[in-house]
Amino acid sequence: MRKRNEEPTVESAEYDPLTQPRFGSPQDVQSAIIELKSIFKDVQTDPEVILPYGFSENSYHQSAPHSVVVSVHSTEDVVKIVNIARKYRIPLTVFAGGTSLEGHFGGYKSGSICIDMSGMDKILEIHQDDSDLVCQAGARWEDINHTLEEQGIPLFFPLDPGPGAAIGGMIATGCSGTNAVKYGTAKGEWFLNLTVVLPNGEVIKTRRRAHKSSAGFDITKIFIGAEGTLGIVTEATLKLAPLVPTRVAVAQFKDVEHAVSAVQEILHSPSNMNIQCVELIDDNMIKAINDSGEIPRKFAVKDSLFIKIQGSETAIAEAAKIVKKIVDKHGASGWDFGSSDEGAKALWHARKVCLWSSIASVPGSRAWTTDVCVPPSKLPELVRETKEDMRQSNVLGTIVGHVGDGNFHAILLFRSDEELENVRGAVHRLVERALRMDGTCTGEHGVGLGKKEYLVEELGPGTVEVMKTIKRAVDPLGLLNPGKLYPDEDTRWKKK
Ligand SMILES: Cc1cc2nc3c(=O)[nH]c(=O)nc-3n(C[C@H](O)[C@H](O)[C@H](O)COP(=O)(O)OP(=O)(O)OC[C@H]3O[C@@H](n4cnc5c(N)ncnc54)[C@H](O)[C@@H]3O)c2cc1C
Repeated sequence: MRKRNEEPTVESAEYDPLTQPRFGSPQDVQSAIIELKSIFKDVQTDPEVILPYGFSENSYHQSAPHSVVVSVHSTEDVVKIVNIARKYRIPLTVFAGGTSLEGHFGGYKSGSICIDMSGMDKILEIHQDDSDLVCQAGARWEDINHTLEEQGIPLFFPLDPGPGAAIGGMIATGCSGTNAVKYGTAKGEWFLNLTVVLPNGEVIKTRRRAHKSSAGFDITKIFIGAEGTLGIVTEATLKLAPLVPTRVAVAQFKDVEHAVSAVQEILHSPSNMNIQCVELIDDNMIKAINDSGEIPRKFAVKDSLFIKIQGSETAIAEAAKIVKKIVDKHGASGWDFGSSDEGAKALWHARKVCLWSSIASVPGSRAWTTDVCVPPSKLPELVRETKEDMRQSNVLGTIVGHVGDGNFHAILLFRSDEELENVRGAVHRLVERALRMDGTCTGEHGVGLGKKEYLVEELGPGTVEVMKTIKRAVDPLGLLNPGKLYPDEDTRWKKK
């Protein structure tokens, strides 16, 4: 029989960190808290103070609260907490910006330690000549871009998920955002090197600062999208992009299908080089934005495209001419062009207030934000069928999407358990529709608690089993963020 603190190996027949984890007792949780308090100054256990570290107003998930929240300031702090979690077998979850939408940072029922990364928000080095920087994992993408702007450095970090998101959370969720058409996602090459505390307390660096490397397979990528289940990222080297003048155009259409088919043509035209973002905002969302009071003007209530065009002034003018011709061909009725920096920012602000405006449009509601993604040519059909489904099943909501990538968000609203069940059905049908079209259940938000049930169907049992094998090998005690990402049932793939 193995002794209590002896770590099981992946081969141990009687122990599986995914299906049969054995976590510490309530007494062990209390012992861990006493030890944390003896080492750290900022250790919170007041239920009211720690509630937001395991719960989000923007998510429909109900998670257990954490038992304790500890603020960290260095990689060494994180190592100490990991060692305490191992000693007492207490689940460990990181909280970064708290903007994720699938219950990613919720607590664990038998007790859990939450690491608050907000004290690790420093930019450590800026290498302007190399277009990269090194920062701590609690640094927020907006603050990084603000600092670069303040210092007059004409570079920026182009991944733009929710306002307030921090680098560690962005890595863990494999995020993207409106800029993905031009700059790709977190799964591209924007994260060059990560410092990671592994579940055994060891600190590794995944790469060096070189902008490319063929030294073996890409360990950095194993942590991107791992949702804090394989290691805790404490520092990251980010690649930066040059700041380019940008303008915004808004075109309005008679229906979503016309809008989305215009996108296909725009992205296949010579204007493609200058397109930074193409966002769809449906008529319901336009109304919600108009009614929100968040913007100083009103848009016609129609399905609309918001398009960011970048380049030199001449290139922008050329590209805008091509885009205008294409949207006209697809029956656009309105055309707005922010031909100055201020004009562009004012138009784009409308895109930024979508989630809050949508929730405010139905008083007392909460939102279930979906994020399926399909091959771009399938998008018009998917959006049309989804709108029709929402209408037929009486689901209230809005649609906003990164349509240039084939990705969109149906923001489905509910005010009661009954409405929640109705929304659940609509979400399930939406995901099934996307999978039928060779798409994914999640283009950018990640799996968390909410999409575990779709992984085997989407990826196949063999691929899911490779993920689980990596988890078992790296985290044999199953301490890091248990309950998230990996499907619940034992889908271990057995080759016949
Ligand atoms: C209004 C709004 C708009 C949004 N728009 C987009 C969008 O356009 N695109 C998009 O991709 N997402 C979007 N999101 C979702 C969200 O912003 C992203 O998922 C984001 O990447 C989460 O980052 P975070 O710092 O808030 O992470 P958190 O919510 O704090 O954590 C997310 C997960 O990462 C883990 N984690 C955090 N830090 C670390 C670390 N240092 N090491 C290991 N694991 C860690 C956590 O444990 C958790 O599992 C939006 C959200 C909102 C509210």
